[in-house]
Amino acid sequence: MREECGVVGVVKQDADSHPVPAALLIYYGLYALQHRGQESSGITVHDGKEPNTFKGMGLVPEVFDKNDLIDLKGNVGIGHVRYSTSGDSRVENCQPFIVKYKSGTVAIAHNGNLVNGLDLRKELEAEGHVFVANSDTEVIAHLLVKELLKHDIPDAVRNIMKRLHGSYSLAIMIDDLLMAVRDPYGFKPLCIGEIESGHAVASESVAIDTLNGDLIRDVNPGELIIFRGGEIESHQLFNEPSCAHCVFEYVYFARPDSIIDGKLVYRVRERIGEQLSIEHPVDADMISPVPDSGITSAIGYSRKSNIDYEESLMKNRYIGRTFILPGQAMRETAVRLKMNTINENIKDKRIVLIDDSIVRGTTSRRIIDMMRRGGASEIHARVGSPPIIAPCYLGIDMASREELIAAHKTVSGVEAVINADSLGYLSIDGLVNAIGLEKDDLCLGCLTGAYPLEIPGEKVCSRRQLKLNEFK
Ligand code: AMP
Repeated sequence: MREECGVVGVVKQDADSHPVPAALLIYYGLYALQHRGQESSGITVHDGKEPNTFKGMGLVPEVFDKNDLIDLKGNVGIGHVRYSTSGDSRVENCQPFIVKYKSGTVAIAHNGNLVNGLDLRKELEAEGHVFVANSDTEVIAHLLVKELLKHDIPDAVRNIMKRLHGSYSLAIMIDDLLMAVRDPYGFKPLCIGEIESGHAVASESVAIDTLNGDLIRDVNPGELIIFRGGEIESHQLFNEPSCAHCVFEYVYFARPDSIIDGKLVYRVRERIGEQLSIEHPVDADMISPVPDSGITSAIGYSRKSNIDYEESLMKNRYIGRTFILPGQAMRETAVRLKMNTINENIKDKRIVLIDDSIVRGTTSRRIIDMMRRGGASEIHARVGSPPIIAPCYLGIDMASREELIAAHKTVSGVEAVINADSLGYLSIDGLVNAIGLEKDDLCLGCLTGAYPLEIPGEKVCSRRQLKLNEFK
């Protein structure tokens, strides 16, 4: 099961130290991360005696009643938003996960995907552990509880890190102690911040901004942070982390106003657009984005190429992703409901259409057809990522290899399918330069088909491999 998620954790020094209850702070933090998951939402707050959880299917404002949250006692808590397209869309899989054990409780919110989740689960089931859901996160919770019975927190976390193969950015509560953990590759983002009389951890810095807080820094790959007594206790559990930050966070997934691993996503997307205009120039009348994901790169392309930025498409921002209408006839209406053309802007124009990525190719085709009907004379598609040729096993829900159009077709083949006059993808080096991190510090698995860690049936890239004996 592949998951895209967002996590938040908040700790206040004491009940009176911040006018807003912890549960409500988490609610606002999750609101800021709604783009990371729309399927389910959950909040667990610890009142000093026991954890209290609210969770359910749906968007943040659908699941929580603010009045209930105001009454939820506790100065510390974690929250989660989840999006999964597999058949496992059920309430048991909503997070945070809570596991009670003889010394207390563990609550976990997880963003990422374990490659060996099923193996670990089978092993734990054979030992008598009972699982209520089928998510990796529950496996992490059970492993942690097992270790906590024998070890202190840093040792317990180190021991489970040795077993977990994959991506995990975690907000954890052991009783009322808040912690943050990021896997040794730092696949998924995770950062910490200071809020009024307390601290927060979040998948993206926008959640900390929303709480009127200040970003302190990213959690390091392989680091455990414990928020104890108003202090930040850092345990670097992996000697020499071997970063493999997900490029797709920069390309599509994260909010442009977030700072991830030191880079403002907006700036990265602007540079992607500039780089695209250098790699794939074209004589045209206007530069237009596919909203919203192509907007920032279109601004960069327009600036660099000196061709005007003008919108051709308007998105209805009140239509959710899950909006599905049966039947072919209604499908066109569904597309139009989501996105409409501004015909006066596009009539007889040669347009450079910028989008962040092409996955299956169906969205681009529909949009280009619509723009042709709206009167555009030429449509030149420019894509802010290199061709996506391989699946993601590490937390981006990206379709199977069969469904990925670029896994089976050349650039001109894709150009024909999406019905564009020309098509240009950003190069891998262009993307790496736009991000501004070292190539070896990025996960390029979906673009190269070679992954930073071993995945059954797939190639491993030639970068330095992590060794489990490198744990301190
Ligand atoms: P398609 O080529 O029809 O699969 O759609 C690609 C478009 O979907 C891209 O332009 C993105 O804006 C968006 N997209 C890309 N990756 C994802 C993802 N993992 N989850 C949801 N939407 C995505």
